[in-house]
Parts: sequence; C-alpha cells; structure tokens
Amino acid sequence: MTKTTQARNDRAGAHPDDLFRLFVESSLTGVYLIQDNLFRYVNRAFAEIFGWEVGEIVDKLGPMELTAPEDRDLVAENIRERVEGEIPELRYSFRGLRKDGKRLHIEVLGSSVNHMNRPAIIGTLIDNTEKVTAAERYRRFFDEDIAAHYITAPDGAILECNDTFARLFGFASKAEILGTNAESLFPMPRERERFIERIKEGRRIERHEAEYVRRDGKRVYVVENAVGEFDLAGNLTSIRGYLVDETKERRLEGQLYQSQKLETLGTLVGGIAHDFNNILGVIVGHVGLMENKRSSDPEKFSRSLEAVGKAANRGANMVRQLLTFARKVEVMTESVRIGDIIEEVAGLLKEAFPEKIAFSVTVEPGIPSILADQNQLYQVFLNLCVNARDAMPAGGTISMNASVVRRSFLNGRFKEVDSEEYVLVKVSDEGVGMDKETASHVFEPFFTTKKQGQGTGLGLAVVYGIVKAHSGFIDVESEKDKGTTFSLYFPIPPEAIEAPAAAPEESENVMGRGETILVVEDERPLREFAETALRDNGYEVLSAAGGAGGVEIYGRRGADIDLVLVDMGLPGMTGSEVLAALRKLNPQVKVIATSGYLEPEVKTEIFAAGAVDFLAKPYHVIELLGKINKALRPEGR
Ligand code: ADP
Ligand code: MG
Repeated sequence: MTKTTQARNDRAGAHPDDLFRLFVESSLTGVYLIQDNLFRYVNRAFAEIFGWEVGEIVDKLGPMELTAPEDRDLVAENIRERVEGEIPELRYSFRGLRKDGKRLHIEVLGSSVNHMNRPAIIGTLIDNTEKVTAAERYRRFFDEDIAAHYITAPDGAILECNDTFARLFGFASKAEILGTNAESLFPMPRERERFIERIKEGRRIERHEAEYVRRDGKRVYVVENAVGEFDLAGNLTSIRGYLVDETKERRLEGQLYQSQKLETLGTLVGGIAHDFNNILGVIVGHVGLMENKRSSDPEKFSRSLEAVGKAANRGANMVRQLLTFARKVEVMTESVRIGDIIEEVAGLLKEAFPEKIAFSVTVEPGIPSILADQNQLYQVFLNLCVNARDAMPAGGTISMNASVVRRSFLNGRFKEVDSEEYVLVKVSDEGVGMDKETASHVFEPFFTTKKQGQGTGLGLAVVYGIVKAHSGFIDVESEKDKGTTFSLYFPIPPEAIEAPAAAPEESENVMGRGETILVVEDERPLREFAETALRDNGYEVLSAAGGAGGVEIYGRRGADIDLVLVDMGLPGMTGSEVLAALRKLNPQVKVIATSGYLEPEVKTEIFAAGAVDFLAKPYHVIELLGKINKALRPEGR
C-alpha cells in the first residue's frame, strides 16, 4: 500500500479488520474455511455458487456434500494432504455439486493454516462452469464438425487441418496427414495446378464439386469452398478450404440410377423372353409340320415356310430393339416418327405386363416427324407405362395417343413456347391417381410414394429431363381414384423433315444389271446367303471369307468390281482395315459395311473410314438390294 492510500483509508476511518471483512464478504470469489471436515466459514459468493444460503452451509455441510460423487475421492485426498501438511498449497479443479444437483466446474486454491491451534484449510474458489462448457462445446463443434477444414501452402504442403479432414482422406489423425502434399489427394497432379489457377484468378472457389483420392485409392466426392490468401504484392500465400463429404450421397444416387436401369431392363427382358418363347414355338411347330407336308401338301408347306420366316423376322426385330435400347444413351437426334415409337413400346409391353393391363394407341394420321433421340423416347414412354401399370393393380387400360397441336394451345401453360407446332402425346391410365400435393412433386428426383425397394423416384425425373432436352414440355393431370394423364409436347421443326427412307417395296426396281459385287464375310451361311440373294437378283458375285482374301481379290479384279460388301466384325484383318486397304487401291471404291452392332460409335467410325452406307445385320434380301441399288445408282437411274 502506498502512503497516500494508507492516508486516505485512515482518513475514512476504516479499521483494517473491517476492511478485511468487507473484502472477504463482498468478494466475488468464493472464500471458505474448513475444519474438522465442516465448513466453518463461507462467504456469500461461495454460497451462491453452490446454490445454498450461507447459514445452510456453515457448521452443517462438509466438502463432500458439495462435490460431485465422481470427484469425491479426489477432493478427499487433496484435503487430507493439506490437513496433514504434506502439500500445504494446491490449486486444482473438480466437479462440484449444486444444491439443485447440477454439476459445476470448480477451480480451487487452498492452503493449510492453523486456526485456533488446530489444522484447517482456507481457500478461494471460482466457478468455471460456463467457460468450460463453452470450451467443450467449441471443441466438440470442431471435432464433430462435418466440414473438413484445411490450410495449404501454394506448393501443396498441408499446414493445418482438422481431424475430419484427415479422416476424409483415410488418415487416422491430423498429425498423420500434415506431412502429406495436397497434390497427392487430387486424381491428377494437373488438377491441383488448375485449382490453383482458378484461385489466383477468382481469389476463391465456391460450391465446387470435386473428386479427390483417399489414401487407400478410393474416391471421395466433396463440395468445396476455398479462399486464397494473398500478400500485398498479390502473390498467393495460402489457401483455406472447407470440404463437405458427399460420397455417401453420390453412391446412393449411383445405386438408385442403377436400380432404375435394372427395373427398366427387367421389364424389357421379361417382355422379350416371353415373346421369344412364342416365336420359337412358331418355328419349332412349323418345322415339324413342314417335314410331313414337304411332298404331300406343297401349299401347306409354303404356308409353314412363311410362318417360320415371319417368326424369325419378329425375333430379329426384337433383338434389334433390345440392342438399340441397351446402348448407352448418346443424345443423337434423328428424324423420328413418334407414332411408331409409342406403338412399338405398347407392343413390347403388352407381353411384359400382366394380361389385365390393356393398351390403346391412337395416332393421328400425317403427324410430321420430329427431331429426337429414339432411345431416349423409348425410355420416356416405357417409364410412363411402368408407372401406369403400378397405378392399376387391378388392371385397366393404358391409352397413348398422338396428335398435332398449334402453338396457341400451349401458350399460357408453359414458358418459352417457341415452335409453331407441337406433337402432343397423352399417356393416360385409369389407376389410383394422385392428389394435388403428390402431383406437384412427381418430377422431382427421388420422389416416390412406393414402398422401399419398389420405387426409386427417378422414373419421372428421367422423363422430365429427356423432354426438356428435346425442348419439349410435360405436365400431369390427375384425380384420386380416377386416373392420371401425362401430356408431352415435342416441337415440330419448321421445315417438314424427310421421313426416314423406307426400304423400297418392289424388288423389281432394285434388281442388279449385271454389276459385280465382292462379298467379304467370314460367316459361311451369311456369305452364302448374300451370294445367292445377289446372284438371284441380277448381280455377279465374288466372295472372300476373310479381309486379306478380299483385299487380294480386289487387287486383282478391282477394275471389274462395282461394289464391296464388308463385314466389320472380321477375324484377323478388321473391317476398318479392309476398308482402308481397299481405299488405298482405289480411293473411289464403293463399300457398304455390315455389322451386328448398332452402336452409334461404330457407325460413325465406319462412315469416317469412307464407307458409302451401312447395313445392320441381320438384313433382308430387300434391304440388301435397296442399299446396293442406292449406292450404285444414287440418282435412281
Ligand atoms: P417411382 O415410380 O419409382 O416411384 P417415378 O418418378 O416414376 O418414381 O414416380 C414418382 C411418383 O409419382 C410415384 O411414386 C407415384 O406416387 C407418382 N406417380 C407417377 N405416375 C403415376 C400414375 N400414373 N398414377 C399415379 N401416381 C403416379
Ligand atoms: Mg416409376
């Protein structure tokens, strides 16, 4: 105490004892004295901390009563040490117990004293409960944080991160990952460079969907925000980032897409298998009949032959559809007759769906073709029909009808109506229908009212996506227990587009005029079929069973050969190689490629290699002749 304060106190007339009493009584720190295991003195702050009145504690309660059971051993031991003088002073924390049973975080500083000639403890304590719980909460927040945090140097050194970040990348702890270079977490080193470039350009990256590689090589998908720190000269000094792991969501999405695909495929395969059995039944049955009728009844023989031929055609047709359908969808617009598509889908599903589901298809005559991706349209109508079936467990009719509507019909219903005319396809059922609330959600991905394992909620989302991709519109009308109608609008292009060229009907116009065709085909029955078909229809034929042989023949007889028919799937020298070799011999050579695969890539490849046309296997005589005719006499001479 300085002289002046001493003087002022003296002037105020405060006695030192009073001063100490005032100081202790009104201190905000808890003050206590323990002797004989009872509190002999506590101040008001002490009593308040523990939720008692001073009078309820003094001479009545001991330290154990104010200590939480889990810390009583600790506190008793600490008191004993002090009472016995082993450790005269001690500062420690323990869990206190309030009158109302609440736990307290108490920090205490006690020392042994001699009070009235006997050992005692005096001390002060403070209540840290709020501070500690806040810190705990903060720590928990950081540890359990679903976001992974990091700070990296521009060279990729990971300077700081939380455990979530370490765990996200498959490291046991933060300590383990700190020595790692962030570059190794990117699928390609180039990608980190690009990431840095983007930060340098925009200073930050927001909601960036990124893919990283875990320590075990697995991929993680995250959404990331990253902020660049720059020095005064504008150089990037570090990057702070926040990642949220979306791997689980991605995987789920993938699985759902997968199961949707499987559901669709299952429906289709069911239909094909059923129809195929019928087709095979026709073939087997008629072949049996033919054996008997061959000589005895030529008329029945030829009728059976016709039936066999028809059944085989149907089978080939179906395989073609299946192949078309099973292709990975590439957005490929071509001229499409939508009426044909809904008829085909109805035909296909009739077999796959239960018999109590009927189909009614009406197509207004003269609907112009639209530009569309045929595969995707199959998917659209298939999904709608599957839903209609599910909505009619007791059976009913699925109606699909196509017509043309003018722009004014759509105005007010949809935005951005920019075509003059649209093809409207309505798909209706007589099923359970939906209330307004349900109907307003049906196009949302993952929205389903079906039991787990029965619906993915993706069917209509896919439909919606495809319709949008075709600049079309879709809406739904439904009434509970009455049924549902989906209306789909596809724009008709302004210039009426040419309908896909149909194979010529009459074989007379496609007869050969003695031209020579070289057939390169490794499969003997097919080669012989082509040979016979061509010879029977006015062509001279040379043939080879392999690519090298074909090229060799062309080398010798090229001048006589008007056209080459090449199978793309040859063993040894491939069809493309044959094509290249032929074009080397004669850049003007006319080649028609054939293949059993309908992949768009294969077609593109074939045309890029210089083929004049493509013929999908299996083909009919008429198709073969039509294509050859077109290639040899393009102007229809
Ligand atoms: P999912 O068929 O897997 O449930 P969709 O996207 O195909 O997913 O359909 C979403 C929901 O829309 C269905 O669960 C159903 O509630 C409703 N829905 C779709 N089509 C019809 C329909 N024709 N009749 C009644 N409800 C339908
Ligand atoms: Mg569905």
